[in-house]
Amino acid sequence: MPVRVRYAPSPTGSPHVGNLRTAIYNWLLAKKEGGQFIARLEDTDRTPERYVPEGMWDIEESLRYLGIVPDEWWVTGGPKGPYIQSQRLEIYKEYAEKLVAEGKAYYCYCSKERLEAMRKEQQARGIPTGYDRHCRDPQRREQMRLKRLSEEGVEPTPVIRLAMPLEGQTVVHDLVRGEIVYENRSQDDQILLKSDGYPTYFLACVVDDHLMGVTHVIRGDDWLSSAAKFMAVIQAFGWEPPKLVHPPLILGPDRKKLSKRHGATQFMEFVREGYLPEALFNFLVLLGWSAGEENREIM
Ligand code: GLU
Repeated sequence: MPVRVRYAPSPTGSPHVGNLRTAIYNWLLAKKEGGQFIARLEDTDRTPERYVPEGMWDIEESLRYLGIVPDEWWVTGGPKGPYIQSQRLEIYKEYAEKLVAEGKAYYCYCSKERLEAMRKEQQARGIPTGYDRHCRDPQRREQMRLKRLSEEGVEPTPVIRLAMPLEGQTVVHDLVRGEIVYENRSQDDQILLKSDGYPTYFLACVVDDHLMGVTHVIRGDDWLSSAAKFMAVIQAFGWEPPKLVHPPLILGPDRKKLSKRHGATQFMEFVREGYLPEALFNFLVLLGWSAGEENREIM
């Protein structure tokens, strides 16, 4: 099977250097294997601080600066498009409903107030916060629906949650970290589709990776802690998982995630400071990797 990788940024602002390093890693694998590199915009989190439309222009500009031209992406389109997730809402809804019909996901009518009170109580008791699976039980679900209907006077719109297996373990095979085992019991019944019709990351990303024929998911290792949820969604659909690769994040000298405190973190800041594309590309490739040849700093 030919290698198909994707770079899936969210337009949350001007891209971080770490984000573009991930793009480079994906692109290099595609080039080496004679495969395809797809760029998909993951813009389903519409909270104002997480949705910055101008961020998209900076992402495009940064890729161009690095000389990376995706084989398929939102700018020029392609056979598996559209490559902007907010234009694919119908697809995600259909797949979420399919899981509900198969009993692998369920409607949840819990109100914001109930969830908030539940979280506060969990915090006060010093136990891990998470959904208590109230609506997983059909009777309680119906009671909750009727309660909201009588309180609000209109039919409440539910969210769709994954019915996480309650027993056993989810095993994630990562090409960098090896085998990682997660206890299913400790995993939340993740929201897949929100009441506003937008999917969460887990649904949209898994569905798109499948429909777009992605063979390798290369992404920062901050996604490792939720990799069990990602895998559980793939397993609920019964799909073959892509190969997972989680390179370590770029850290500052203090071993903390690279942030503003350490100086420039946005790729475009380096561009504005006059660094040449080749130098930036070379610099990003060598952050966290070396060819194993002593003192070779120019690739
Ligand atoms: N939209 C996610 C992000 O920007 C993508 C993560 C992934 O590559 O799966 O972090």
